Amino acid sequence: MSPSWSNVRADFPILHQQVNGKPLVYLDNAATSQKPRCVIDALVGYYERDNSNVHRGLHALSMRATDAYESARARLATFINAADAAEIIFTRGTTESINLAARSLGAKLKPGDVILATEMEHHSNLVPWQQIAKATGATLRFVPVLGANAEGGLDLASLDSLLTPQVKIFAFTHISNTLGGINPVEELCRRARAVGALSVIDAAQSIGHGPFDVRAIGADFVAFSGHKMAGPTGIGVLYGRRGLLDTMVPDETGGGMVSHVEYSGARWKPAPERFEAGTPNIADAIALAKACDYLDALDRAAIAKHDGELAALAYERLSTLPGIRLLGTAGARSGLVSFAFTEVHAHDIVTFADEDGIALRGGHHCNQPLMRKLGLTGTTRASFYVYNTPEEIDVLVASMRRILKFFGVT
Ligand code: PMP
Repeated sequence: MSPSWSNVRADFPILHQQVNGKPLVYLDNAATSQKPRCVIDALVGYYERDNSNVHRGLHALSMRATDAYESARARLATFINAADAAEIIFTRGTTESINLAARSLGAKLKPGDVILATEMEHHSNLVPWQQIAKATGATLRFVPVLGANAEGGLDLASLDSLLTPQVKIFAFTHISNTLGGINPVEELCRRARAVGALSVIDAAQSIGHGPFDVRAIGADFVAFSGHKMAGPTGIGVLYGRRGLLDTMVPDETGGGMVSHVEYSGARWKPAPERFEAGTPNIADAIALAKACDYLDALDRAAIAKHDGELAALAYERLSTLPGIRLLGTAGARSGLVSFAFTEVHAHDIVTFADEDGIALRGGHHCNQPLMRKLGLTGTTRASFYVYNTPEEIDVLVASMRRILKFFGVT
C-alpha cells in the first residue's frame, strides 16, 4: 500500500523552515537527502546511551555498541538482499567504497588487462579506475553515451565489441547523477559475467530510490552512500560477494582487521573485518540501519514510483520553457531532471532560485568529461525524494519563468 506522501513531510524536521522568506523547497536530493526524525534520534540515542568502542570490549556498553553495530550490518544486508552480513563492508560512502574496490581488485591487474567503465560515470567511479590503470598498465575503456542530450542512454550495442575476455572489471552506474536514466544493471552484470569480468555498480543514486536486490541483479560489488538514502553523512557500504572478498588484499591495515601479528608481519581476518581497520563509524552505521527501516516502511517500490512520477512531471513542465535543453531520456527515469539554458548560466539559475526558497544544484555534477562531450559547462539539476510534492514543481517552474524573464529570455 502506498504511503500518504503528505504525512511523510512531518517526519523531516528540517523541511519546516523558510529560506529567504519563502517555504523551503528542497530539490537537491541527488547531492544529499534530508534525514527523518527516527534517524536523528538513533544518532543521538546511541551517544546518550550506548557509546563505546566495538569488538574489543568486554563491558556492558561495549557489548551493546558491538551488538548494535553488527545488527546494523545485518540490516544493511537484508536491505539489499545480500546472502550474508559479512558481505557488507562499512565505509565513508560511495567514493571510499569504489576506491577500496579499485585498489583491492587493482592489485591483481596487469598490462593488457582492461577496465571497462561508461562515459556517464561520476568522477568517483572514474578517477579511482584511472589511477589503477596508471599504476598497473591496464587500459581503461568506455561504453559510449548516445545522443546530443544523452537521450539514447548507454550504447548497449557497443558491448559486443567492448566486452572482450581482456576486460577484468566492468564498473558502471545504476543511475547517472546528471542524466537520471536507469541503466539495465542486470543485463550489464550478466554481460560482464559472460566474459569473466567482475561487475562494480555505483548505486549512489539508486539505493534510496527503489528496491535493490544484489542477488537478483547478479552484482559482484556495489557501492553506495548513507547520506543519499535518508541516512547520515560519513557512512556507506561496499557490498562484495563473499567468495570474492576473502581473496582480496586489504586496502588499509591496522587494528581490528588482523588475526595474528608478529613484529615481522601479520595475517588478516576474513571479511568484513579485513576491510575495516581502526575504529569504525559506529553511530552512523546504526542510524543508517534506521534509515533502511524507514524506507522499507514507506515501501521502496512506492518510492520509485513517487520519485519517478515527480521527475517525469518536472521534465514535461520544464520542456515548455524557452531555450531549455533537457538531458537524458524522456521516458523511464529516476527522481531527477537536469537541464541547461543557452542564455543563462546554471550558477545564475541556482542563485536566483535560492531567492525563491528553492535548493537546486548547478555545475558539472562531477561529470566533467560527459559535460565536455555534450558541449556543456554545466547543468541545473532538480532532484526529488519522498517528501517532495507536485506543488513544489509548480514553484520550480514559476521560479524558472521569473529568472528567464529577468534575463530577457522569452
Ligand atoms: N556516484 C554517484 C552517481 C553520485 O551521484 C555520487 C554523489 N554525488 C557519488 C558517486 C559519490 O558519493 P559520495 O560523495 O557520497 O561518496
